[in-house]
Amino acid sequence: MPIRPENRRRYPTDWREISLRIRTVRAAGRCECLGECGRGTHDGRCPNRNGQPAYGTGSKVVLTVAHLDHTPERCEDSNLRAMCNGCHLHYDRDHHRETAAATRRAAIEAAGQMTLTTEEA
Ligand SMILES: [Zn+2]
Ligand SMILES: [Zn+2]
Repeated sequence: MPIRPENRRRYPTDWREISLRIRTVRAAGRCECLGECGRGTHDGRCPNRNGQPAYGTGSKVVLTVAHLDHTPERCEDSNLRAMCNGCHLHYDRDHHRETAAATRRAAIEAAGQMTLTTEEA
């Protein structure tokens, strides 16, 4: 998953090296997802390998590195998981939905507060 411009500065300067080491050395080019993605399409570890056709779709696998807690600053090995694009997308999707919901809630609350303040004034 491409790094969004607003998040780029949150990554450490050696992120490329970290990411490469996780993908090539630790994961040996294979998706490390053990089901965290929640897709429910693979039992045990995901069989997808970087540059190979993905199971199910046959499209080319791009191995990425996901932050398990969705915090780019936290790049300890234990917080990182090499994931194929399919797993990564699915893993982040729930998070994105939550974040969007929280943003919406905050906006609604802020609007409510504003109304309240106006009414009180
Ligand atoms: Zn995968
Ligand atoms: Zn997966």
